[in-house]
Amino acid sequence: MTRALPITGATRLAAVIGDPARHSLSPAIHNAAFDALGLDSVFLAFDVPRGQAPAALEAVRTFGLVGLSVTMPHKADVAAAVDELDDTASALEAVNCVVPVGGRLIGTNTDGEGFVRGLQHDAGIDPGGRRCVVLGAGGAARAIVLALARTGAESVTIVNRTAASAEVAAQLGAPVARVGVPADIARADLVVNATSVGMGAGAGDLPCDPDLFGPDQIVVDIIYNPFETALLRSARKRGALAFNGLSMLVFQAAVAFERWTDHPAPVPAMLTAVQDQLAAEPSVDLAAEP
Ligand code: NAP
Repeated sequence: MTRALPITGATRLAAVIGDPARHSLSPAIHNAAFDALGLDSVFLAFDVPRGQAPAALEAVRTFGLVGLSVTMPHKADVAAAVDELDDTASALEAVNCVVPVGGRLIGTNTDGEGFVRGLQHDAGIDPGGRRCVVLGAGGAARAIVLALARTGAESVTIVNRTAASAEVAAQLGAPVARVGVPADIARADLVVNATSVGMGAGAGDLPCDPDLFGPDQIVVDIIYNPFETALLRSARKRGALAFNGLSMLVFQAAVAFERWTDHPAPVPAMLTAVQDQLAAEPSVDLAAEP
């Protein structure tokens, strides 16, 4: 993509930090958004070693950044170092987006809202009143559990390999969330795979027994590389509507963009940019995303 505006002394900077961050898709997504709206900002990725997040936050202040995305392993460190956390980041104890407001740095977490908006975009539904099962209890799963509970899901059942983490996730979604077992999948309206099973080199792996899926179910695998996981294929074969994690990725960025700029995010341009980038670099390292 070519930038429409020249870079001048007035051009502002937004960025993502991670370790690593160099394979991040965020620059493609956010630069497309700035360009689509004619905003004079650029977005870069910075590899910041573990432990250096507070120094990166100082740079946000010094350089007057428009906004900062945060990816692994800095999300908890940034949560501890910003001036203020919103309700979501405070509950999750993890920040993936820093919003500078009047000299203060506000930490938020856009993954859960990104998931819900992605679901509306792909499947045309809201989680409200639905029985949901979330596979996994890591950072992404916790953000999704919280968002599903907040948007009025009838129930949110967490199925995870490690019981203690599932309990932590269930507490976040109280009172509608609880720890469940794989058989709960068969009774769900919406099933979300938020484990890393099926990602990258483990592309053929399944996080659950696919025979638990059936018609009338919506299945979202938040992985997007590969574009179509074994889970999505098996769910479709059994009649479910199935979607990958591309929309969650784009909408978590869209929410961040809107917080930084006060402009509605140009989602079609952002989606096209990430699709083009994935097509050009199919082996991109997904662990590097916010
Ligand atoms: P994480 O915090 O490391 O959590 C990983 C989860 O996967 C844990 O629940 C873990 O279970 C489970 N898991 C890992 N290996 C497993 C195995 N062999 N069998 C069963 N369960 C296993 O990672 P995360 O940040 O939440 O990310 C999870 C996935 O979501 C990744 O694939 C990531 O790329 C994707 N993601 C996508 C988006 C998006 O925008 N689409 C955003 C964030 C993350 P235990 O608790 O038992 O270890």
